[in-house]
Amino acid sequence: MNYAARTSHLKAEGAYQVLARAQEMEARGREVIHLEIGQPDFETFDNIRLAGIRAISEGRTRYTPPIGIKPLREEIARQASQRYGGAPIHPDQVVVSPGAKPNLFFPALAVIEPGDEVIYPNPGFPTYEAMIRVAGGVPVPVPLKEENNFSFDLEAFHRLAGEHTKLVIVNSPGNPTGGVMPMADLKEIAAAAQKFNFWVMSDEIYTRVAYDHASVPSIASLPGMMERTIIIDGFSKTYAMTGWRLGFGIMPKGLAKVVQLLLTHSIGCTADFVQVAGIEALTGPQGQVDAVVAEYQRRRDVIVAGLNSIDGMTCQCPQGAFYVFPNIKSFGKSSSEMADLLLEKAGVAVLPGSAFGIYGEGYLRLTYSNSIENINRAVQQIRGVVKGQL
Ligand code: PLP
Repeated sequence: MNYAARTSHLKAEGAYQVLARAQEMEARGREVIHLEIGQPDFETFDNIRLAGIRAISEGRTRYTPPIGIKPLREEIARQASQRYGGAPIHPDQVVVSPGAKPNLFFPALAVIEPGDEVIYPNPGFPTYEAMIRVAGGVPVPVPLKEENNFSFDLEAFHRLAGEHTKLVIVNSPGNPTGGVMPMADLKEIAAAAQKFNFWVMSDEIYTRVAYDHASVPSIASLPGMMERTIIIDGFSKTYAMTGWRLGFGIMPKGLAKVVQLLLTHSIGCTADFVQVAGIEALTGPQGQVDAVVAEYQRRRDVIVAGLNSIDGMTCQCPQGAFYVFPNIKSFGKSSSEMADLLLEKAGVAVLPGSAFGIYGEGYLRLTYSNSIENINRAVQQIRGVVKGQL
């Protein structure tokens, strides 16, 4: 059987592949420390779970408008307008979806014509390249610069951007690096967007997971950018709701209408009781989010110090998300050889940087949404293997 060419480039996400191998080892009795999957290790907060349960009991189990229920879109719009400098945001600019992913894919389908160039971060979230190719676009990876906190290599960006650019994707704080893009870099990208008239997609799913009390700058808050920016955000990471599937996009009304049509004919709508739980997440107590972020920051400090104490490894201190992206180039092995070695010999599941694109080679991605005890054990075990094997 042959399948349509538009699917031939699709491959599984590295995290799921490594997880499957780690689980096989566990089934054979090996102990594995999981630092591969990018999801919070906390349970969804109680008030949110109860709101979801209550909504099911009250019969909130039917179809909703494909764009999402109005009270949720109103609350998202209200909070977004505060975050993006007070500019009014209309609820009709908000598109709710089951997880953030459909709000990456469908706006991409709505703006990319076959042959259009799309600049995206590399190393970066694998869905970007997948959706660009499915839409028939030409993926143009821009390298991230380790010494600039994994923000864009701006020289490369200026070489790659031009009249032929349809869309530029930014992701800050970023997966897989945890890097936060400084406002100065975003201003340069915004200036290029105005000059060459391209769209910007700003994936801000980790925006609340930022450290040292820093607030993460957004390209959407720059003058004139709201009308050409698609903001992607969601509940998965901030409220530990990965399995609930709830996310949203904020975009100009015209584009929101097109995306709503794509949702109508694909996913239909997002579960009503999940949206009710989302309202509780946004309007309920926020102290628990701050407490979780403070805990991540403690873990970040432990893992960064631990990895930097291993001879030959260097690890930047990320300002957001829950990933570190240590440089392993000095070991002379590919990132997937290193990840295999660490899984087999150290019993620590990590991802090769190459799972996030060509410029991820020479790095590993470790998630620190795990206990400090496990992080310390993982670092010890990695140190032992690195000393003995390399
Ligand atoms: N964007 C980035 C950068 C991510 O890392 C993820 C999930 O890992 C998503 C989007 C998708 O989030 P969701 O689970 O809400 O679809």
